[in-house]
Amino acid sequence: MNKQTILVTGATGAQGGSVAKALLAQDQFNVRMLTRNASSAKAKQLQQMGAEVVEGDLDNKQSLLDAMKDCYGVFGVTNFWEHFQNEYQQGINLIDAVKASGIQHFVYSSLPSYRKLSMGKYAVPHCDIKADLEQYARSLEIPSTFVHVAFYYENFLTFFPLQDDGNSNLFFGFPQGDTKLAAVSVEDCGAVVAGIFNHPKEYVGRKVGIGGDDKSCAEYAAILSRELGRRVYFRHINRDTYAAMDFPGAEELANMFEVQRLHISNRLLHLIESNALNPAMQSFEQWVRMNKAALEEVIPAPLAEETVY
Ligand code: NAP
Repeated sequence: MNKQTILVTGATGAQGGSVAKALLAQDQFNVRMLTRNASSAKAKQLQQMGAEVVEGDLDNKQSLLDAMKDCYGVFGVTNFWEHFQNEYQQGINLIDAVKASGIQHFVYSSLPSYRKLSMGKYAVPHCDIKADLEQYARSLEIPSTFVHVAFYYENFLTFFPLQDDGNSNLFFGFPQGDTKLAAVSVEDCGAVVAGIFNHPKEYVGRKVGIGGDDKSCAEYAAILSRELGRRVYFRHINRDTYAAMDFPGAEELANMFEVQRLHISNRLLHLIESNALNPAMQSFEQWVRMNKAALEEVIPAPLAEETVY
């Protein structure tokens, strides 16, 4: 039987890479991946795993139309943190190309509108833009499913590495307070998306939250303490203090955590659905165990021989 083809955008990155690998592993669809650079190591690796690699750019709609030729499905992810406000136009290009190509199942990695959740009080462009794009795809009546991916566990390796508090104890801090923070290993998202592609009748028109755990930051810190053998704690930093910090995106992230703290009490239903689609979803504890060495590489070494508890 001839397999149908799914175009995976962002396949050299975290989400798209996970989707491409999961689709290749289940072998129900041909995988075509979009990249701006077909000769990168990641593109070559996926090619060796069986993906067809095509060059294209979300800034260039014709390249997207070419990439979608004869495709059944498309997985779409847009990257705010590289393109900022231009994410919106790139998403429009993607969605217009999906519509013009007659794609039968579009899975777009969207997020809730934090502007709406906070009744206009806080702007969180990396979420609000995706919510607007979700709305745009719905307005074009594209057969779509929207996945809302939780905070990556991998952020502890990249954006939010544990910090030393000066007493050889480790902490992480932001304005999340005691409210549960849904989180996930981005590596587990792919099998959820593959499951969605396998069940179009059930999932077209729906929104699916992808999460692997839903705990308070204090609970995540306790897991890190236990697994790393060093005291790790969560420090609540209030929204205004965090927004004034000197790093790019500080205000945006301050608003994101503040809206979550105030308006998203839990995402338990997302966990239930994610686990139904991918029974191998990792809890945070499982992920920390599997990634202990990588975490240890990014945490500051203790100042003294003995950890201060
Ligand atoms: P990533 O690992 O940084 O990868 C970005 C991917 O986008 C790469 O594969 C890159 O492909 C592709 N790309 C970038 N610009 C492109 C362009 N102009 N044309 C075509 N492809 C382009 O990103 P990710 O983590 O998978 O996804 C980022 C998104 O996830 C962000 O928008 C963020 O808001 C969202 N998100 C993040 C979290 C989190 O906790 N971090 C949670 C939920 C959602 P090439 O370089 O090969 O072209």
